[in-house]
Amino acid sequence: MPDARHDAPPELDELTRRLATVHDLRAASAVLGWDQMTYLPPKGGAARGRHLATLSRLAHEQFTDDRVGALLDALRPYASSLPADHPATALVRVARHDWEKAVRVPGAFMAAFTEHCSASYQAWATARPANDFAGIAPVLERTVEMSREYAAFFPATAHVADAFVDEAEPGLDVAAVQALFASLRARLVPLVREVVARPRPDDSCLTRGYPEDAQWRFGEMVARRLGYDFDRGRQDRAPHPFTTSFSRDDVRITTRLSHDDLRFGLFATMHEAGHGMYEQGIAPGLDGTLLGSGASSGIHESQSRLWENVVGRSRGFWEWGYPLLRAEFPDQLGDVTLDTFHRAVNRVEPSLIRVEADELTYNLHIMMRFDFELALLDGSMRVADLPEAWRARFISDLGIAPPDDRDGCLQDVHWFAGPVGGAFQGYTIGNVFAAQAYDRAIRDLPSIPSDVAQGEFAPLLGWMHANLHALGRMFDVNETVVRATGAPLSIEPYVAYLERKFRGLYGSGSDTPLP
Ligand code: ZN
Repeated sequence: MPDARHDAPPELDELTRRLATVHDLRAASAVLGWDQMTYLPPKGGAARGRHLATLSRLAHEQFTDDRVGALLDALRPYASSLPADHPATALVRVARHDWEKAVRVPGAFMAAFTEHCSASYQAWATARPANDFAGIAPVLERTVEMSREYAAFFPATAHVADAFVDEAEPGLDVAAVQALFASLRARLVPLVREVVARPRPDDSCLTRGYPEDAQWRFGEMVARRLGYDFDRGRQDRAPHPFTTSFSRDDVRITTRLSHDDLRFGLFATMHEAGHGMYEQGIAPGLDGTLLGSGASSGIHESQSRLWENVVGRSRGFWEWGYPLLRAEFPDQLGDVTLDTFHRAVNRVEPSLIRVEADELTYNLHIMMRFDFELALLDGSMRVADLPEAWRARFISDLGIAPPDDRDGCLQDVHWFAGPVGGAFQGYTIGNVFAAQAYDRAIRDLPSIPSDVAQGEFAPLLGWMHANLHALGRMFDVNETVVRATGAPLSIEPYVAYLERKFRGLYGSGSDTPLP
């Protein structure tokens, strides 16, 4: 924060130094976490758990130190004398937000909760394949109970889930998410009904057996071309793809490849590259501070969905990419036209598993989970009722029902590795904001669609870097959205995008059948 230093009080220096230590401890944890998910030998888990617990305790102690609170108090007049978009103002504001949350929750509770979550994850890892909901129900009941206890540390909130929503999406609460989802749902459900009633494109070309080394090569080429900087990152394999960042100059992405389905690796790579390019685009001056990350889970997800779906599943993208893909896989794709391929990667079909859902039905999976979290937390639904509620909601929303709990309410790790609350809404907020940000970008730079069709992604990425990524975590969700796009969060660009895209693909009868 060089421009703040001029006549900044000495407390700002001390606060910055202390927070840098906290950041470095967390970054070291993140490196160990990355290693755990990629290369850790099977027997290294116990020792790694200990290393992570030690680092996390040290970071928590450093951050919740009384001196940090005193510095924040002392800096209040200085921070409020600066403009709201001054980095020092943002730092003090965000540090206070995080600090107050951290000191409200007793360390002993957090330790017990963390331990419970890790036991719950172990239990889930056995219960899911065994389809054993009854076996894990008491564990989930305890999670709900502890989630309520956690929420009770924030008594000023209107809804028991508000603290969780605010943690994931600073500035948003349950009421705001409910309003957003209700308006989206009203427009989405009729569109889903319309599209799924039509003949589905043939997607068999995607499952013809794709050698993994060629998939890896192609994926890396695409990520590099999109603008993911391999000099400030790397890609590795992981069973559940993720992105992690230790600095804007060291942002790691992971992917998983399936020989039997080209979609997994291809779109996971673009998705994670989107997360990675966000982190790589944060303003250098914010690096190593509390502000040097994305604004929220949902805003982060908007950047992965932008590259995975808005760009990566667009016709224009494949005008550029398909000849290259076909050259990599002549045996599998030699007889497949661009049209057939483009339709195949946009096939819409009600399905049971969230992470495999298509772009259109995906949000219905999210909305049901969000509603169930609220019901479990406010006590209107018991854990024992979850499997039946899950089936009923699937039938009413998607017209299909899971045959068992393994592919029903046990499918997601979230409630078995963390609190019940705030775990899912970010995915749909991300979809909504991806369309809004893209819409604004092409209004500023109308050549973006034709650039994309020529494999030129720098104009779009440059717009995102300048208008969104650079802000890091300086502002809450609402403020970030307005600063990036000039308008509050809105479903309109997203609904317009979905209608245009899927009515175009599925619309007229002559358009739909495939040879
Ligand atoms: Zn993501």
